[in-house]
Amino acid sequence: ALVLGIETSCDETGIGIVRGRTLLSNTIASSMEEHARYGGVVPEVAARAHLEALQPAIDRALAEAGIALADLDAVAVTSGPGLAGALMVGVGAAKALSVSLERPLYAVNHLVGHIAADLLTGDDVEYPTVALLVSGGHTSLLLVRDLTTDVELLGETVDDAAGEAFDKVARVLGLPYPGGPEIDRAAESGDPTAIRFPRGLSRASDMAEHRYDFSFSGLKTAVARWIERRQAEGLEVPIADVAASFREAVVDVLVTKALAACDDHGVPRLLLGGGVIANRRLREVALERARAAEVDVRIPPLSLCTDNGAMIAALAADLIRSGRRPSTLAFGADSTLPVTEIQVAEDDR
Ligand code: ATP
Ligand code: MG
Ligand code: FE
Repeated sequence: ALVLGIETSCDETGIGIVRGRTLLSNTIASSMEEHARYGGVVPEVAARAHLEALQPAIDRALAEAGIALADLDAVAVTSGPGLAGALMVGVGAAKALSVSLERPLYAVNHLVGHIAADLLTGDDVEYPTVALLVSGGHTSLLLVRDLTTDVELLGETVDDAAGEAFDKVARVLGLPYPGGPEIDRAAESGDPTAIRFPRGLSRASDMAEHRYDFSFSGLKTAVARWIERRQAEGLEVPIADVAASFREAVVDVLVTKALAACDDHGVPRLLLGGGVIANRRLREVALERARAAEVDVRIPPLSLCTDNGAMIAALAADLIRSGRRPSTLAFGADSTLPVTEIQVAEDDR
């Protein structure tokens, strides 16, 4: 099916068009620069920016895909989780589009969408599979029996999300927002073994109780303390080494726990998704260690890791393919939608 996906859960206005599991276009307008001087996303600014960006983004996506609105078979939209005001803009636009075109509407989960980005990478995805979702607001390990029907939450962060930790540590290092890409860049010229930062919830005792959970707030504090001590001694802060050592600690825990989940469940398959999967070192280590463990790992291309509309369209296309009914118009923005709710307001007639 030819599907247009609308994503407005945070500061990216994403419009993607897919035909089944083939990507036709993926346009993204970001209000990131407007938020940068506040050091984080300002919800009202984001919502207003979506309003302004939506129509041009839709036009651009259609042009790039070489299709007209009337060619679409369905419309898809992120219903949650995310910023309520930002989500509402996308939901309103999607409903209007669905009604005016007389095409079915699929309201889907943003987090499952991040994992659905892997559907666009080529070969068929085999189930069951473990999935690791690492984004700005979430860090979760999932057991996916079928991306359209059954996503089980194995564990998640007990405090900060990994992306949040990247953004906070960047601030401590004096790097601009958003910090993830900045730390990634700074880390390239640093020594990842320079400083041994803590790996959260990784001790033997933690692995019994919190085997699939993550914790990054202790790591963030450890980095801040290390920098303070250094400055108190009147020494310069080696930004590249701190960035590389911090990045290594995050990546190590993420990959170790994901592969442990694969091993425990006898599932030699791993899907990665979310903005932090854009991290160079994470991609590298995941590939290396998965190969060693004989686990088949899927990693979306960079443009499909951070928020985008194509992943939303891809998830809806798979829902259609597996015979799921569209959503009724009786849904709104759900800012706390859990990852286990793949589609909302499915028509049960
Ligand atoms: P959620 O998906 O949980 O609702 P979100 O949509 O805000 O949150 P994403 O857009 O998926 O999150 O990801 C954004 C996060 O990814 C930010 O925290 C950003 O710093 C981080 N990020 C982006 N690129 C990189 C990178 N190269 N290395 C590390 N982190 C990165
Ligand atoms: Mg974003
Ligand atoms: Fe996201």
